[in-house]
Amino acid sequence: MDAKSGRHWVAWANTHARNSRRVEDLDSMFRRKIEAFTDALAVGGAGIRVSATRRSPGRAYLFHWSWKIAHGRSKASEAESMAGVPIQWDHGDDRLSRAGALEMVRGFGLAVPPRSVYPPALSSNHIAGRAIDMDITWSGTLRIAKKDGAVAAIDYMHNVNSNIALHAVGASYGVLKLRSDAPHWSFNGR
Ligand SMILES: [Zn+2]
Repeated sequence: MDAKSGRHWVAWANTHARNSRRVEDLDSMFRRKIEAFTDALAVGGAGIRVSATRRSPGRAYLFHWSWKIAHGRSKASEAESMAGVPIQWDHGDDRLSRAGALEMVRGFGLAVPPRSVYPPALSSNHIAGRAIDMDITWSGTLRIAKKDGAVAAIDYMHNVNSNIALHAVGASYGVLKLRSDAPHWSFNGR
């Protein structure tokens, strides 16, 4: 395969650097907390749909540097290397290097200015396996046990970020809500 950056790296990442939505792929300590919380939710009758667990560091690396090079925030020659991801960012010509990176930004569907003015992060709780994105739904009032066994009664809210009673139950299991990101829960709330 051509090592130079370009759209073929999107296909490479979809084979070699995939994200996961399996709870089994989480960090083992966080996984135990998530399983205890989601077991309690399920016992109470809530539905859970997981959309993301552990993200690939190689994928994050490709997101980060393609975004920065495509937007002129870094020269291709300044990109760091990563073991196991043998990409060549520098085509020996700035215009071609930026064009190759831009093909990847578009192929990955990355949020670009003005929607997002920051490059995708190289590290995150998802990459460390300590975050999960999940939708939790129920109808009416959910009766759910906190970790200490006390039962909480929680009304459903369309906006989960506002449901602080649910956040408190999660916190009792060590699963903390990030209130600016609807599906996101993590070990430290970030
Ligand atoms: Zn998330």
